Amino acid sequence: MGWIKINGKKIKVVIVEEEEGFDVSRYGESDLFKFIIKINSRLAPEAKIQTLLHEVIHFWNEDFALGLNADDQDSHDLIERLSSLFFIFCQENNVNLNPLLAAINENKKRKVNGKV
Ligand SMILES: [Zn+2]
Repeated sequence: MGWIKINGKKIKVVIVEEEEGFDVSRYGESDLFKFIIKINSRLAPEAKIQTLLHEVIHFWNEDFALGLNADDQDSHDLIERLSSLFFIFCQENNVNLNPLLAAINENKKRKVNGKV
């Protein structure tokens, strides 16, 4: 699996297939207390990065009390809009997001190589 850092915390990034307990109609999911981000394996590479950014905002919200309630539809829509804006900003300014994609795909690579 890959790792990213958010505010000094090491967050595990996992691609999920039909894993039990993960609704595959979802794009991603965060466990804010176990420091895990799950990304749906079926997404296209750009959508995986956007989903990762979305989940990162969930962590920012928790760490800095941004007041975005993930259970509230309007708040959650705001998280989605912010992650889209952040993604567009990175693209417009040639920010290299490949390391994030590499972190997402890290566990996939290991599976292909047969080493867990
Ligand atoms: Zn969300």
